[in-house]
Amino acid sequence: MNNITLPSELKGFINTNTEEGTTAADRKIYLIRGKLDTSEQICPICGSRMHVHNTYDTLLSHLPFGGSLSAVGFPKHRYHCPKCKATRMEQVDFQAQGHRITIPLQNFTEDLLHSGLTLKMVSSLTGLGKNVVKEIDKKRLAALYCKDGGGEWRRPLETPSVIGIDEFKLHDGHKYATVILSMETGHVLYLAKGKMLESGENNQKMSGENNHFQSVNNNQNNMGKA
Ligand SMILES: [Zn+2]
Repeated sequence: MNNITLPSELKGFINTNTEEGTTAADRKIYLIRGKLDTSEQICPICGSRMHVHNTYDTLLSHLPFGGSLSAVGFPKHRYHCPKCKATRMEQVDFQAQGHRITIPLQNFTEDLLHSGLTLKMVSSLTGLGKNVVKEIDKKRLAALYCKDGGGEWRRPLETPSVIGIDEFKLHDGHKYATVILSMETGHVLYLAKGKMLESGENNQKMSGENNHFQSVNNNQNNMGKA
């Protein structure tokens, strides 16, 4: 692999070598190793030059490409001030908060979720565990719909007068997802795995009102297969 250009997209990361590996789930992964482009560390308390105190091998999941997964690996330092004894962890500008993943992978995951793919599909596309995808989704939805990103629900970004509700089969043909959308703008208001409409009678009555939506569903099924 001589043509890896992705690492250069990470600001502050210098790629030194790249290895091929296999994940526990038997998927090919590129381990992009390197170092952080660190400037001199100045103590935020007394202004002295800080010294390296500890070094930790850090591995962050990164964007998949060419059908393979990738991860960036680098040593991360804890610095120590010889004068006032303060310590601080090195800042990694491209690491997503709260996860061992890069910010580009977080953005990619959010966009896939936003496009309506299921957790299972997003998990498979990104190589991230389902729980991580679920957490990213929870945060994403909280930022969209909750005051201050907290637990309190606020009004949706738009107030639709006509909504459509439908279910579609996932690619395996057994599991279902439910989606609610604004029939005026086509914006998805709610999308979840599982059946919301239990009775067949309701199902027909409600989904019959938005037949055009069937084609959207088909697209999503195709994306899941790709
Ligand atoms: Zn100091």
